Amino acid sequence: MKQYFKVDEWRIIEEGFNPHFNKVAESVFSLGNGRMGGRANFEEAYSGETLQGNYVAGVYYPDKTRVGWWKNGYPEYFAKVLNAANWIGIDVSLNGEQLDLAKCKVLNFRRELNMKDGYLKRNFRAVTATGKEVEVESIRINSLADDEAGAISYSIKPVNFGGYIKLTPSIDGDVVNKDANYDEKFWEEVSKHTWNDGGVLQMRTKKTGFEVATGMKYHVSVDGEPEHIEAEPVTREKYIGTEIRMEIKQGQRVTLCKYAANLSSQNHPADEMMGLTQEFLERICHKGFDAMLAEQAAAWAEKWKQNDIIIEGDAAAQQGIRFNIFQLNQTYTGEDDRLNIGPKGFTGEKYGGSTYWDTEAYCVPFYLATAPQKVSRNLLLYRYKQLGKAIENAKLLGFKDGAALYPMVTMDGTECHNEWEITFEEIHRNGAIAFAIFNYVRYTGDEQYLADYGLEVLIAISRFWAQRVNWSAQRQKYVMLGVTGPNEYENNVNNNWYTNTIAVWCMRYTLDVIAKVKSADLAKYIELKYRIGFKEETETAHFRDIIEKMYYPYDDNLQIYLQQDNYLDKEQTLVKDLPASDRPLVQKWSWDRILRSPFIKQADVLQGLYFFEDEYDIDTIRRNYDFYEPRTVHESSLSPCVHSIIAAKLGDIERAYQFYLRTSRLDIDDYNNDTEDGCHITSMAGTWMSVVEGFGGMRVKDGMLSFDPMLPAEWKALSFKVGFRGALLNVEISKQSVVIKTDSEEPIRLKVNGAQVSVSSEASLDLER
Ligand code: BGC
Repeated sequence: MKQYFKVDEWRIIEEGFNPHFNKVAESVFSLGNGRMGGRANFEEAYSGETLQGNYVAGVYYPDKTRVGWWKNGYPEYFAKVLNAANWIGIDVSLNGEQLDLAKCKVLNFRRELNMKDGYLKRNFRAVTATGKEVEVESIRINSLADDEAGAISYSIKPVNFGGYIKLTPSIDGDVVNKDANYDEKFWEEVSKHTWNDGGVLQMRTKKTGFEVATGMKYHVSVDGEPEHIEAEPVTREKYIGTEIRMEIKQGQRVTLCKYAANLSSQNHPADEMMGLTQEFLERICHKGFDAMLAEQAAAWAEKWKQNDIIIEGDAAAQQGIRFNIFQLNQTYTGEDDRLNIGPKGFTGEKYGGSTYWDTEAYCVPFYLATAPQKVSRNLLLYRYKQLGKAIENAKLLGFKDGAALYPMVTMDGTECHNEWEITFEEIHRNGAIAFAIFNYVRYTGDEQYLADYGLEVLIAISRFWAQRVNWSAQRQKYVMLGVTGPNEYENNVNNNWYTNTIAVWCMRYTLDVIAKVKSADLAKYIELKYRIGFKEETETAHFRDIIEKMYYPYDDNLQIYLQQDNYLDKEQTLVKDLPASDRPLVQKWSWDRILRSPFIKQADVLQGLYFFEDEYDIDTIRRNYDFYEPRTVHESSLSPCVHSIIAAKLGDIERAYQFYLRTSRLDIDDYNNDTEDGCHITSMAGTWMSVVEGFGGMRVKDGMLSFDPMLPAEWKALSFKVGFRGALLNVEISKQSVVIKTDSEEPIRLKVNGAQVSVSSEASLDLER
C-alpha cells in the first residue's frame, strides 16, 4: 500500500513529479463519460514511462487467440477494447526545443482530479535541457453533457525567455494496443480533412469495421485576448495536426483551447461522419471552454445529488468512496443497452474492456440504487440480447436443447477469453446472470420483466445446469465435476460449493418464476414454452430432482461448507504466516505452487453466503467466515468488499472497516501493485455495497427496504442516498440516531433495526439508537 496521493474529500491530488509512479497516476486520474474516456496522459510529448490510452465505448477488435496447444472449444479470439485515436496531443516546441518532461527539470508539478466538477488539472514549471523555463497549466474534461466531446485548456508561459513557440495540437490515429497478441495495428485510415484551425481524421477498425471520426478545433489567446495566428496543417498517414507558430515575450501567457469530438459509426452513418464531426466541433467551440466547464460541473452536481455518500470524521474513507462513485459514473451511464462495464472501464487495456460476471454480481446493485431503473434494466437486456449466442456457446461445448452458457468474457455475446480454466470451467458466471434478474426484480418490483425477458434466460441457464451436473452412483447425489469457482487459485476442482449452490438456486428460482409468469400471463408463458421447445413436465421434474439431491461438500468437524471436495487435503497454512515478500502470490509464486496452496484469491464460499444469506443462520455464516477469511489473500479486487459486508453483518465492525479501506482505496493507494494497468472499476461497485449494505445494513425484502446500520469507530456520521421504486431516500446515520428523509409524496414503509416504520414526504424519521 502506498500513501502517495494527498487526502482530500473531493479531489485526488498529486504533488511532485514522480516518473516511476506516472502510470499509476495516469490510471487514477483517468477521465470518461460513458461514451469515451482515457488515461491521464500528458498533452505534450513524453518520452518517459507511460501507457497511452484513449477509448471509445463499444469499439473493439477480435484479436486472434494465442495459445500453445489448440483444443476444441477454445474461443477464436480475445476481444479487446481498442486504444483509439489520441485526441489530447499538443506538442510544444520552445525556440525549436521540444517540451518533454522526461528531459526537463520539473518543479511544482501538481495534478488534481476534481471529482465534484469533473475535470483534471495539471500545473508545473519545467526547465529544459538548455535552461528555458516555462509554466504550464492544463485543464481537461470529457463532457458528461455532450458525451462525444472533450476539451482542453492548455496555457504556457515562458518564465525566463522570450521568442518563438510552436504549438501543434493533433489527432493521432497511429496507435497500438500494448496487449495486442501479434503486435498488429488495429486501425486503418478512411479519410482526413484539415483546415486552418482544426481537422477530422476518420479511422476504421480492421475486421469489425467500426468507424470513428475524431476531430479537433482550437482557438488561441495571449494574455486572455483572442489571437489570430497563422497556422499550417501537417498531415501524414493516420495523423493530422496544425502547427501554430508565434513570437511570445517573456512572461506572456498563451492559451490554446482544444475542442475534440469522437463520433462513432455505432451511432452515426459512417459516410456522413466527416461532416457531422465538423458541425459538432463548430457547436462546442462556439459554446467555449468556460461554458463547457460550467456545464460539466452542473452535470456532475446532478449525479452527486443522486449518488453522493458523506462520511464525517474520516477524510481518507470519504475520498475513497467518492473516487469509486466518480469512476463508476465515468464508466457507464446506462444510456445504451449495447454497452457494458469493463473491469478497467476507460482506464487501461487489461481485461480488454469486456463484460465479466462483475457486472451482474457487483455493478447491478450499485446502479439499481443510484440510477434510474432503465440503467440496470439495460444491463440485463444486454445479456438477454446475447442469449442466442450463449446457447451457441453451450452448443460448441456439447450441450443441447437450448441450454445456455454465457461467456465468462465477452463483447458481443461470443466467448472471448483464452484460458481454458476460465472459458470452460468458470461456469458460475451463469448463476450471477440469473441472480441479477432476481436482484433487479426484488429491488424494482418490475415483475413484467420476468414474463418479457427474464424467464427465457432463466430456463436456458437452468437447462445448462441440468446437463452440467451428473449423477454419482457412489454418492447417490448429483455432483458437478471439473469446475473453477470464483477463487481462480484452484482449477478443475470437483463440487465447488459456490457453483453447486448457485446452480440449485437458479433452478429453484426458475421454477418460482415459471409459476409466477403462468399465473400472471398464461398466454405469454405458452408462447415462450412453444418458442423455445420447453418440455415443462419432464424438464421441471429434472430440475426438482437435482434441487433435492444435489451434493454439497461439508465438513462435520469444522461445520463448514468446503470450497470443493479436496480443499481440506491441502496443507492448511494461513495468510498471516506468509512472508510479506511472497505477496502478491500471483507475482511471486509459480502458478503450480498457487494451485496446490490453500490460499484463496477471492470470496468463494463467502460469495455464496453473501448472495443467499437468508438461507443460512448467523452461526453458519460466522463459522465459514472465521475459517475462510484467514486463508484469503484478496488478490482479486472483488474480494475485500464481500468480506467487509459479511464482517459488518457479524458485528465485527473494525474488520469491516479495514476491508472497506482496502476496497475503497485499492487504486488510490495501489494496494495490489497493479493500478498502473488501470483502475478496478467493477470492484468499485463493491465498495459502494460495503458502505450501503455493510455499514448501512441495507437489504430489500418483501418489496421493502430495511436498514441495520453500524458505524466504524472512526466515523462520526454516514449518509447516503438510494433511489427505491420512484422515491429518493436520504439515510443519515450517526452514533445516536438514524434519520431517513424522502422526497416521495406517498409514505414509504421501511424497517430500521428490525422495527417497521413509515416515512412520508415532509417527515423524517429520527430513531434514538
Ligand atoms: C477475478 C474474476 C473477475 C475478473 C475481472 C479476476 O481477477 O478473479 O472474478 O471476473 O478478474 O474483474
